[in-house]
Amino acid sequence: MTEFDCDGCGETRQKIWGCEVEADEPLYPGSVLSEYCGELRRCPRKLITTETRRIMEARAHYERGFLPRSGGSEDQDYKLMRGIMIINQTVAEIEHQDREDERRKRGR
Ligand SMILES: [Zn+2]
Repeated sequence: MTEFDCDGCGETRQKIWGCEVEADEPLYPGSVLSEYCGELRRCPRKLITTETRRIMEARAHYERGFLPRSGGSEDQDYKLMRGIMIINQTVAEIEHQDREDERRKRGR
C-alpha cells in the first residue's frame, strides 16, 4: 500500500469520490482545486504525481518554517510556492467545509 492509494478513502466514500471510476457528481465544485484542475470527478489521490508529491513534501517543510532554497519566499521556485499556496487554500476550504458540516450535524 502506498501513501496515496484509495484504501484510506473508505468503501462508502470511494463511489462518491470517484476512486475507481468517475464520480456521478463533480467534487469540490467552485473550489480552488477545481479552479486549477478543472471539473474533478476522480479522487484527488489519483491526481498525485511525482511533482505534486514533491510540492506536498515541500509544503510540510514550509509549514515548519523551512524553505527549500536559501533566502526568503521570493527566492523560491515560483511553481513550487504557487503549488504550496494552492494546497494551503484547498486545505482551508476543506477544513471550513468540515466545520460547516459538523455545525449542521449538531443543528446549529
Ligand atoms: Zn480515493
